[in-house]
Amino acid sequence: MSEALQPAAFLDRDGVINVDHGYTYKPEDMVFIDGARTAIRRLNEAGYLVVVVTNQSGVARGFYSEVDVERFHAHMQAELGKAGAGIDAFYSCPYHPEGTVAEYRVDHPDRKPKPGMILRAFADLPIDASRSFLIGDRPSDMAAASAAGIPGYRFPGGDLDVFVAGVLLQAGIAAGPN
Ligand SMILES: [Mg+2]
Repeated sequence: MSEALQPAAFLDRDGVINVDHGYTYKPEDMVFIDGARTAIRRLNEAGYLVVVVTNQSGVARGFYSEVDVERFHAHMQAELGKAGAGIDAFYSCPYHPEGTVAEYRVDHPDRKPKPGMILRAFADLPIDASRSFLIGDRPSDMAAASAAGIPGYRFPGGDLDVFVAGVLLQAGIAAGPN
C-alpha cells in the first residue's frame, strides 16, 4: 500500500451536510446540519479526503442548472472555510431516467444507488478504498456504498459531528491497531 493513499469519507450532501429543503439549490437557502462544519473539520484533521457524492435530479427535472449546483457548492466551500474545514471534491449526478430535460434523461451509472460517483473518485483521487466509508441519510446511499465495496453509515439526523466521531471510532476499531 502506498503511503500517499488516504482514506476517504464520502458524504451525501442534502440531509447530511445541509438541511434538505427539497431540491435545494440557492446559496441563500444553504443551512448547515448541526455539527456539519465541525464534523468535516474533524475528518480533514483525521487525514480523510472528504468527498461529496450527491444526486441532483433537479437538473434533469429542469428546476435548476449544473451551474447552480456548482454555485451552491462554492458557497458551501466558502462557508466551511470560515470554520477551518474543507471538502476535497464534489461529485454530483444531474441525471434522472424520468427527467424533463432531454440531455439529462438518462439512467446513468452515477445516480445512487449505483456507485458511479464513488468509483470515479477512486480513479481520480489518491484514495485507499479499504479505509474509506460513506455517510448518507437514505437507503440509496447505503446501496451505493455497498456496491462500491465500502461501509455505509446511515445518519439518522441530529448532530453530524457526534455521529462522525462515532463512525471514526468504529472505523478505527474495524481497522485494528496500526
Ligand atoms: Mg440525502
